[in-house]
Amino acid sequence: MNLKDPTLFRQAALIGDRWIEADPANAIEVNNPATGEIIGRVPKLGAPETKAAIEAARIAQKGWAARTAKERSGILRKWFELMVENKDDLGRILTLEQGKPVAEATGEIVYGASFVEWFAEEGRRVYGDLVPGHQPDKRIMVMKQPIGVVAAITPWNFPNAMITRKAGPAFAAGCAMVLKPASQTPFSAIAIAVLAERAGLPKGLFSVVTGSAREIGAEMTANPTVRKLTFTGSTEIGAELYKQSAPTIKKLGLELGGNAPFIVFDDADLDAAVEGALIAKFRNNGQTCVCANRLYVQEGVYDAFSQKLAAAVGKLKTGNGFDEGVILGPLIDQPALEKVEEHVADALAKGASVVQGGKRHVLGGTFYEATVLSNVTREMAVAREETFGPVAPLFRFKDEADVIQQANDTEFGLASYFYAKDLARVFRVAEALEYGMVGVNTGLISTAEAPFGGVKLSGLGREGSKYGIEEFMEIKYVCLGGI
Ligand code: ADP
Repeated sequence: MNLKDPTLFRQAALIGDRWIEADPANAIEVNNPATGEIIGRVPKLGAPETKAAIEAARIAQKGWAARTAKERSGILRKWFELMVENKDDLGRILTLEQGKPVAEATGEIVYGASFVEWFAEEGRRVYGDLVPGHQPDKRIMVMKQPIGVVAAITPWNFPNAMITRKAGPAFAAGCAMVLKPASQTPFSAIAIAVLAERAGLPKGLFSVVTGSAREIGAEMTANPTVRKLTFTGSTEIGAELYKQSAPTIKKLGLELGGNAPFIVFDDADLDAAVEGALIAKFRNNGQTCVCANRLYVQEGVYDAFSQKLAAAVGKLKTGNGFDEGVILGPLIDQPALEKVEEHVADALAKGASVVQGGKRHVLGGTFYEATVLSNVTREMAVAREETFGPVAPLFRFKDEADVIQQANDTEFGLASYFYAKDLARVFRVAEALEYGMVGVNTGLISTAEAPFGGVKLSGLGREGSKYGIEEFMEIKYVCLGGI
């Protein structure tokens, strides 16, 4: 595969301090979604290995928590530096298993590493409180302590960053982590575990368990040693894990599905809105939970915006992520392709029209043309469900009240975007959108400095930012008497 450091591509899982190599007789095959070729295998593990990893994490966590925040920070800083130094190799591994263009994949590595850098810094600034006492001889002390052993389950769309966004704050807070990466993209997870070892993360603190999602998830949720489960994926599986975690009253972090509106008001800068829409809609080929799913355009600028967008979308090159100039890769798998096809067919059957694209790409496989649909209405599936593909459906709206009602008319509440210039409107709309995140005059909102997360069926908790580390800590109140 042409890596500068071939040892980063490891066909193994890490259970405590033990690497388990893939045995072809009992392994998961990993495919390159651009070619369908098998790129390697990882072990198919289950409950016993998950249990062993949790036990190793329990032991390692005690010593890790006892270190100073500065010591933990130094090791995380080293981990961050190793990821950046190896970004080309990590980017290549990511493209190979996920499909996104190699420049975008390398960008994800830098973005993913930034969470480790940020939390290496934040970890030294976790302050408690000394609260005025309620009686003359009492003092109230509030301290923050690591929650303990954390289990993490991550998806395939960001095989690096969805891990670092969880592992960075967990380790900075003094926790241990047992990770189950998505079976489509385990090699990115394993590569950063190799680098974590090199950075000096203590043995057992970080395990990567590959294998049966159901079995691993069942052990993670049932095991009382795990005090927090952090999950990024579908709402359906998130709800299942929530239910499974109830008997052991775990703390939950859930980053689930979205159905992001992207609103263009008639006072918007249309060129900026087109640029924002390209990023918000087509990044990762439309396969992100913050991707614009519904584009609402005010009637006065509807035609102008749709023409400009279609022209820009027509220039996006689709292909193998390793090929020169490619902006859009393949979809992750066949079911993903079928969902996109179904959504487009449903919209067309109910009166929408194709402005650009609209069918499978001539490249075959799971490639789909970058698509713009117009005259889309709320009766169509694209209005209610996440398409998770390169399809921009354009809805027409009359006024602000109407579009806010339509934008909020969903059970999801992750990201939202709008373009407008009027300051009073900017505040009104930002406050009225029932979403965890709002991008105003921008299509790109994710960054380590900001709290990422959703409301309603989009999840619980926030990742990144100063709030992100709190999710991995418990508050302890100490009442000091007789003073
Ligand atoms: P996506 O649609 O993004 O693939 P999923 O929710 O199906 O979303 O998958 C996200 C992660 O959850 C993956 O790592 C997947 O293997 C894992 N997963 C899927 N089903 C279960 C389950 N029943 N229990 C635990 N983890 C699961």
